[in-house]
Amino acid sequence: MAEIQTPSPKTFSTTRNGRNGTSKSLDTSPVSAGAIQAGDEPGKLDLFGQLAARDHEQVVLCHDKKSGLKALIGIHNTTLGPALGGCRMWTYASDEAALNDVLRLSRGMTYKAAVAGLNLGGGKAVIIGDPRKDKSEALFRSFGRFVEGLGGRYITAEDVGTGLTEMVWIRSETKYVTGIPAELGGSGDPSPVTARGTYVGIKACAAVKYGNDSLAGKHVVIQGAGHVAASLAKYLTEEGAKVVITDIYADKANAVARETGAKVVEPDKIFGIECDIFAPAALGAIINDDTIPQLKCSIVAGPANNQLANEERHGQALKDRGILFAPDYVINAGGLINVANELEGYSQSRALKQAEGIYDVLKKILLLAQEKDITTVEASNHVAEERIRAVGATKRIYASSSNFSGRFGEYWQQ
Ligand code: NAD
Repeated sequence: MAEIQTPSPKTFSTTRNGRNGTSKSLDTSPVSAGAIQAGDEPGKLDLFGQLAARDHEQVVLCHDKKSGLKALIGIHNTTLGPALGGCRMWTYASDEAALNDVLRLSRGMTYKAAVAGLNLGGGKAVIIGDPRKDKSEALFRSFGRFVEGLGGRYITAEDVGTGLTEMVWIRSETKYVTGIPAELGGSGDPSPVTARGTYVGIKACAAVKYGNDSLAGKHVVIQGAGHVAASLAKYLTEEGAKVVITDIYADKANAVARETGAKVVEPDKIFGIECDIFAPAALGAIINDDTIPQLKCSIVAGPANNQLANEERHGQALKDRGILFAPDYVINAGGLINVANELEGYSQSRALKQAEGIYDVLKKILLLAQEKDITTVEASNHVAEERIRAVGATKRIYASSSNFSGRFGEYWQQ
C-alpha cells in the first residue's frame, strides 16, 4: 500500500494566516504507510485524525443505494477560493484506500492551484466503482446532487475513469462542474492543455538538467497511454524525441504507437528501461522504494498526480541519485488551468498560453531547489505555501463585499 505524502516541514517552516487570522501550518506530520490510523478503540477509524494529519477542512461521504453511488469528496483548503478538482472513478480495494486517495489528491490540488497562481482551493472526489462496468446516468446525477449540496465549496471536473459524458450527467444536477463539452459552453477534455503544460515542463527540466531544452533525440518513456499521454507523446515525437509507452490495456498503448510511432513495452518492463526522461502518466505512488532503484533516467517528469509514494523520502532518494524530479502538481497544472478558464468564459488559446507559463514556474522552482540544496518538492511546496500564506493574510482586511456575514464574526475574533 502506498504511503501518504508529507511535505517536509524542516527546510521551510512556513505558516499561513487563515481567515480567522490564526497562524496555522499547511505542513503535516507524517502518517504511516497508507494505513488508516486507529483511534482509541480497537478497529475504530480515527477520521478526524486523518483530516487533522493533512489539515483538511472537510470530507463528505456520499451514498445512494438506488444508483449504487459510493463517493467521497475531499475539501482540503479554501483560503484562495472554492475547492476545485476532478472526480476519479476507480476500483479501490477498500473504503480506506478510497479515503486515502481523496485526502492525498485534494491536498495536492491546494498546492497545484497555489503554484499555478489561480484563485482556487484544493478539492477532489473519488467514486468507488469500475469505470468500465459501473457507470450510469443515475449514479453520476446522484453524485451531482451531492456536489450541488455543497453550494459551490467544491467544483468538480473529470479525472481518471471519468470524462465528458459523466460531466454532462453531473451538470444536469449542478452548476458546480467544469470540463463539460465545448458545445455546452465548456472547455471539453482538459487533457490536451495538461499535455501541453507537461511538454513545456519537460523542456524546462531539460533546460536545467542538460543546459538546453531541446528534446530532439531524447529518449522518453511514458507509463500509461491514456488521454494526457496520447497528446504528450504527439508533442514529444513531433519534436524528434524517441518515445516508449506502456499501458495495462495493450489496445491503448498500441493506439498511441500507431499515431506517433512510439514503441510499446509490457507494463512491468517500464521502470528499468534506459532513457533520458521517465514520464509517469498513469496512477500515483509509482515512484517508491521498489521502483527508484530500477530507474535508469536523469529526469522524472510526467502528468500523473502524486507520483512519489512518500514525498519527502522519495523526493530525497531521487535527488540522491541525481535524478531531477518535476513536482507533479506543478507540471500537470494545465488541466486545472484549463477548467479555471472555463469559470471565466472559456478560450482554449488563452488556456494553452497560460499552461505554457508552467515552463517558467517550474524552471524557477528547479533553480530554487538547486540554490538551496533541497528537493524540488520542498521548493515547490515552499512557493505554494508562501502564496497561500500571503493571500490568506490579506483576508484580514475588511471589505464590504460578498460573504459579509461569514467574515464578520471572524473579523471580530482577531
Ligand atoms: P486516463 O485514465 O485517460 O489514462 C490513464 C492510463 O493509465 C489508462 O489508460 C490506464 O489503463 C493506465 N494505467 C493505469 N495503471 C497503469 C499501470 N500500472 N501501468 C501502465 N498503465 C496504467 O487518465 P489521464 O486523464 O490521461 O490522466 C493520467 C494521469 O494524469 C492521472 O494520474 C491523472 O490524475 C493525471 N492528470 C490528468 C489531467 C487531465 O487533464 N486529464 C490533469 C492533471 C493530472
